[in-house]
Amino acid sequence: MKICRFNDNRLGVVEADRVLDVTEALKAIPAPSYPWPPGDALVTHLLQVSARIGALRDTAASHALAEVSLLSPVGNPGKIIAAPVNYRKHLDEAREQAEIHFHQQVAQIENVGLFLKAGSSLAGPAEGVALQHLDRRNDHELELVVVIGKVGRNIDRAQSLGHVAGYAVGLDMTVRGPQERSMRKSIDTYSVLGPWLVTADEIPDPGALHMTLTVNGQPRQEAHTRDLLVDIPRLIEWASSYYTLYPGDLIYTGTPQGVGPVQPGDLIEAGIDGIGRMKVGVSAAQRKAS
Ligand code: MN
Repeated sequence: MKICRFNDNRLGVVEADRVLDVTEALKAIPAPSYPWPPGDALVTHLLQVSARIGALRDTAASHALAEVSLLSPVGNPGKIIAAPVNYRKHLDEAREQAEIHFHQQVAQIENVGLFLKAGSSLAGPAEGVALQHLDRRNDHELELVVVIGKVGRNIDRAQSLGHVAGYAVGLDMTVRGPQERSMRKSIDTYSVLGPWLVTADEIPDPGALHMTLTVNGQPRQEAHTRDLLVDIPRLIEWASSYYTLYPGDLIYTGTPQGVGPVQPGDLIEAGIDGIGRMKVGVSAAQRKAS
């Protein structure tokens, strides 16, 4: 199932080029008392919400997909975890050398470690990216995003995919420079998530997905998740050995080569086969206090 959030916080199911409005299904989420439990309420109660969606589907109002404004499919992730550049650089050299190189690259990533992005940096495709610090280079990073589905700590790699609720397409937007990544990559709108959440049952192997990103129609990034250096089971195992993972936590799995600058007025199109494609406009942020 492809679950989206659209327009004025409506809940939708995407079927071909239509969005069915199943907002009523959110009533399956129990009202919490303070303090709210950790994790995103929709993802925590995804089973109950999905059952309600099944009952609503046949009578739901429907919209053309092209006419709705898509929001981030996860509204309140507890944390946004991200991996650094995480794709094998292809080598023309002998296979053995390529294998040594692979181990060096994995060691490099493990040295650098994972990092966290602010929850307030989250944006849906329709909200777009509002650039700040235009005197510096602002880059796009196309990434497969894992949405965690159930609580776990010290998750074994063999069990890891059982902790996944689904997948989405992510843009880990970045201002280049010497500051901590948690600052440069946490600007409002610099964590784009969309176009919807594809439930894990539709993606039997997240290590077999092709992805592309264009800017104004020009190809910039193309990759295949079989070339991930630290694969998805290992990312979940690794992250959960540091932080308890909660439903709705996001793991941006790292970008392939081909990152490049964007400017106000650009249009990014990013897609992953089996998930979907999204259009994300780029503008300059208004420097207005509020
Ligand atoms: Mn990244």
